[in-house]
Amino acid sequence: MHDKFVALVTGANKGIGLQIARELAARGYTVLVGARDRARGEAAAKQITGDARSLVLDVTDAATIATAAAWIQRELGRLDVLVNNAGIAHGGAAGDASLAAITRSGAPSVASLADVRAVFETNVFGVIAVTQAMLPLLRAAPAGRIVNVSSGIGSLTSISDPAYPFRGVGGVAYGPSKSALNAVTIAFAQELADTPIKVNAACPGYTATDLNAHSGPRSVVEGAREPVRLALLGPDGPTGTFSNDDGPIPW
Ligand code: NDP
Repeated sequence: MHDKFVALVTGANKGIGLQIARELAARGYTVLVGARDRARGEAAAKQITGDARSLVLDVTDAATIATAAAWIQRELGRLDVLVNNAGIAHGGAAGDASLAAITRSGAPSVASLADVRAVFETNVFGVIAVTQAMLPLLRAAPAGRIVNVSSGIGSLTSISDPAYPFRGVGGVAYGPSKSALNAVTIAFAQELADTPIKVNAACPGYTATDLNAHSGPRSVVEGAREPVRLALLGPDGPTGTFSNDDGPIPW
């Protein structure tokens, strides 16, 4: 068995995922840089100081998920941390990724069902599929950690508050996909409550990445802070929570 802790970060070839991978590698983890595109994954792994290896993983593709899980089992024999970071904001053409485009494409009256399905396929079903595939490895780890990178826009409490600054932004695709991801987080946490595995959801905050055409005010270093904290939780840490770096977020 590999002698260092092993962490898998999905969608780690850029943005917040790449920063999470950097920080876990800096703390001595062997980091598996999940990327749906082999070349992008390899390029990202090379940028990381420490033990970072790229791993082809498209969270919507059952074959790559199964191959990735088998590779980890065979080559490393362990997985300690899974960060479900991969996510998309809308299912349409990637050209306009601004918040306005995310809002427009997810607007309840005009959103295409195909786009909504594409967002759920990545942000929800992808997380379930990857988590299920990696659970045998995580169950065998001394202290498995699962972090689901969610969004405050998935908070039903916030989006139903007339004063919420991002009201309407999540539409019927992105926002509801993160609400569903939060529910999935609770479901896994409850199922695994009698194991050492902790399952939590983190919001990185509005962070400048390709997801929003770099309109967010936060840096990826700030965005990675809460997901990394939850990935490194000690044995007394919580499970089944939703938080950002200011503290708990209401469901
Ligand atoms: P980016 O667009 O910069 O990065 C998204 C990553 O996910 C990319 O590596 C992308 O790969 C990958 N990805 C997309 N689809 C798949 C797939 N099917 N399989 C594997 N990987 C995939 O976005 P962010 O870094 O901003 O987003 C990271 C997470 O943070 C997401 O879950 C997002 O919802 C969440 N978040 C972001 C916020 C922000 O303000 N930025 C705020 C709240 C939450 P590729 O390069 O191949 O497209």
